[in-house]
Amino acid sequence: MGKSSKSVAGVLFLCGTPIGNMRDVTLRVLDTLGQVDIIVCEDTRRTRKLLSMYDISKPLLTYREDNKERAGAKIIQMLEEGKNIALVSDAGMPGISDPGSHIVCECINRGIDVSVVPGANAALSALVISGLPANRFAFEGFLPRKRGARIKRLREIANEERTIIFYESPLRFRQTLEDMLEVFGDRRIAIARELTKKFETVLRGTISQVLKEMESLLERGEFVIVVAGAEKLKEKYGKEEELARVQKLIEEGYSLGESVRIVAALSGEVSRRELYDLALRKLKAPEVT
Ligand code: SAM
Repeated sequence: MGKSSKSVAGVLFLCGTPIGNMRDVTLRVLDTLGQVDIIVCEDTRRTRKLLSMYDISKPLLTYREDNKERAGAKIIQMLEEGKNIALVSDAGMPGISDPGSHIVCECINRGIDVSVVPGANAALSALVISGLPANRFAFEGFLPRKRGARIKRLREIANEERTIIFYESPLRFRQTLEDMLEVFGDRRIAIARELTKKFETVLRGTISQVLKEMESLLERGEFVIVVAGAEKLKEKYGKEEELARVQKLIEEGYSLGESVRIVAALSGEVSRRELYDLALRKLKAPEVT
């Protein structure tokens, strides 16, 4: 543990805890949990289970979405009184799709030190096992529960070219995959289920293949959905497609120059010069303007 010499307040330690396998906890997390004055958690029963495995006994305080204002004020007060506090969530890194970021912002605004003691995280674990490009990715977390809002969000991100990571509850899992198929088309995905646990399963394939395979799987447990990004617009609407559009306009009576201008403007992805040169070379006897 360490604390800035200027500060009289305590430090808020953000501690990552296992996402299933209780042995996935770092030595530094255990040290920190053993040294702080109070541990703030989502569910005292879950956190006690972890603490008892490692013989740690500390006062616990709950901090959840539904009490974050009241509990948050108490946590700030204790930190300002000089107490050191560890924040843990039910699983993984606090602040990732669970309460945490709110109290972190409060501390930063008040000049209270925040320190991270990293641990497991479901999103990154799923990404690295997915087999999908992991150099650049976007984390979406949970989609809206209501179908209309979910479809709307999927449409908003349909052109995202980076690999996208979603969390989903087993209750909505199948419907969400069907919605993704409808909005994204049959992209490559990976489903990482029950990571680090006894029944860890990873399904890889297109959305429709995975939906089929899922029929034999119990739709229970915890899931991360990793989806391949959209094909680059340039590749999706490649030059063949642009050329076909130019050809169609020519057949409708536009000149080559006009057709190229229209298609290049609509696409926004190919230069007029490039398309013009291509059309001259590739299209059958276009009328040169
Ligand atoms: N803070 C956590 C983290 O760092 O990963 C995430 C908490 S979020 C409330 C819970 C979601 O994470 C689950 O609905 C599921 O999508 C995912 N998740 C958590 N543990 C998992 C596991 N062992 N296997 C697969 N997904 C998991």
